[in-house]
Amino acid sequence: MDDNQSTAAVLGGSVSGLAAATGLLRIAEFDRVTVYERQEYDDKRVDCGEAINDTTLIPLPKTPENGFVNDVDGFQLRVYEGTDRSRDARPLAKSNVRCEPGYICERPVVERRWAEELEARGVEFRTGRSVSPDEYADIIESYDYVVDASGQPSLTLKANGDAREYTGDMVALNATVEGDFSAYANWPRIFFEGYVGYAWAFPKSDGHANVGIGWAGDRRPDDYVAALEAAAERNAFPVPDRADVNLATIPRGPSLDPDRVYDPEANVFLVGDAAGIANRYQGEGICQGIRSAYLAATLIANGTESAYPRKLYDLLRSEYRLARLMRGAWVEHEDPDLLASVADALEGLTIEDITRRPATVMRRVAKRPSAALELVADAGMLRRLYGAYTDSWEYATEREPDG
Ligand SMILES: Cc1cc2nc3c(=O)[nH]c(=O)nc-3n(C[C@H](O)[C@H](O)[C@H](O)COP(=O)(O)OP(=O)(O)OC[C@H]3O[C@@H](n4cnc5c(N)ncnc54)[C@H](O)[C@@H]3O)c2cc1C
Repeated sequence: MDDNQSTAAVLGGSVSGLAAATGLLRIAEFDRVTVYERQEYDDKRVDCGEAINDTTLIPLPKTPENGFVNDVDGFQLRVYEGTDRSRDARPLAKSNVRCEPGYICERPVVERRWAEELEARGVEFRTGRSVSPDEYADIIESYDYVVDASGQPSLTLKANGDAREYTGDMVALNATVEGDFSAYANWPRIFFEGYVGYAWAFPKSDGHANVGIGWAGDRRPDDYVAALEAAAERNAFPVPDRADVNLATIPRGPSLDPDRVYDPEANVFLVGDAAGIANRYQGEGICQGIRSAYLAATLIANGTESAYPRKLYDLLRSEYRLARLMRGAWVEHEDPDLLASVADALEGLTIEDITRRPATVMRRVAKRPSAALELVADAGMLRRLYGAYTDSWEYATEREPDG
């Protein structure tokens, strides 16, 4: 890398793009970094639960002014028999998973403040206009490096005409509502209710919260908004105004396919949702996106950028294994009692454990022999175990519909 002539374009200025700009500036010490963002930071839309589990990744003081509004102790997983139940039905399991540096945020504020910080350090922002696939080609010509953080499907895939291959996996709706959340402001709730997916109520304060619901796989309700309203009724959080409800998808792949995350000819790196690396089991993607962007910057700084696909795979492998297995507990069994046993086994672990440390989770589940046996006594689960531990599921061209 020539220190005096390195220029980089970052396509998309959300969490992964802002992390890429931070990394290129601080780690790779680029002279010129330009972020292209189609929205304006003062008026940015959020399709997200706004839970950030490891806020140490964001280089801002964790103050309400910077959007870090609720410093939570962890999350409470509540497992129910199904959706056909009353408000006061008792959950089959209630399990608390901890997260020390976690916050429920005002994400548009976090992004605006982060962008302001970067601008003050010399990053150029071109906002309020979408980069077209034609402009994408010009940008690639004009910069030494390009980081595509444009979400899913990525600009790179669109420019290459590949976008149809890449579909969102998890449909999710969210909205901010007002109500009384004082009973669980420090322990946001996640409701598992018999479908492949979950509803959530993530308080930002005692008086307002981000609430939502998401479904993975093929079986989804006909009317998403009505399903969110019903979830609000039975889980005792306020029904959002229809006009406030956002609908979005969480990606499933191409995830770690090396051909898709790095183009050595054009020096293009895909990070975050653009690379399809949101967690397939619980849909979390902010920390994953930030980590992928810092990784790309570190490798560029070291002159080892061709290692990006492999290093990204190494970074995420444990998480993908665990996500594949946890999702199997839903998809292959559809048994709320079994899910409740698994949730009970997770009590007291951290979000990091249940997201990225398969051995820790397995040790906990193994302490409940009947649940452990029931989990693996199934051809689908055994296939998943084999796939996860031989890494043979990642690059398959024929993906299972409920992967
Ligand atoms: C309902 C819902 C709830 C979620 N809840 C959580 C949660 O609580 N915690 C969590 O960690 N994850 C959550 N996720 C996942 C998380 O939101 C994503 O993984 C994360 O936003 C990925 O960040 P990103 O920067 O890679 O992409 P994105 O957030 O998609 O950002 C892409 C950026 O690129 C810009 N852009 C796109 N195209 C262009 C273009 N042509 N030109 C210029 N700019 C462009 C967009 O405007 C956007 O700012 C949730 C997702 C959904 C849908």
